[in-house]
Parts: sequence; C-alpha cells; structure tokens
Amino acid sequence: TYVIAEPCVDVIDRACVEECPVDCIYEGARALYIQPLECVDCGACEPVCPVEAIYYEDDLPERWQVFAGDNAAFFAET
Ligand code: SF4
Repeated sequence: TYVIAEPCVDVIDRACVEECPVDCIYEGARALYIQPLECVDCGACEPVCPVEAIYYEDDLPERWQVFAGDNAAFFAET
C-alpha cells in the first residue's frame, strides 16, 4: 500500500484524491489517509502530491514510519 505522511498535515491538497482510480484516499481532520485494503499500488497518487507526502510503504522515510500505522488506524476506528 501507499502511505500519506507528515507533509500532508494541515495541507490536504487533494490532488491525489482526483488521481486515485479506486477512490481509496479519504479525508481526516488534518490530513488525507489511504485505505490500505483498497489501495491497488498503482502509484498514480505519488507524483501529483505537491508536498511529496506520499510514499510506497517500503520507501517511507524512517522518521515517518509511524504514518503507516496511522493510515491503517484511521480506518480501524471508523
Ligand atoms: Fe490510490 Fe493508486 Fe495511490 Fe493506492 S497507489 S492510493 S490506488 S492512487
């Protein structure tokens, strides 16, 4: 799955939402989140993010590893 990290917080540009072919990017209070069970790993969202907040999970920078859990947890709660 792809993961949305720190740069999205309080930005919520939504360019990725337009790009996602399966509509699996959802809006939270302060950031957007990718539903890991729905993401088809197409990569379409990554290059359109103006703040480079989106990473394939294996390429997520170490300091933002927590966001992989955050993205999954967002959907577990709803
Ligand atoms: Fe959507 Fe593709 Fe991005 Fe997954 S990788 S969130 S399916 S645009």
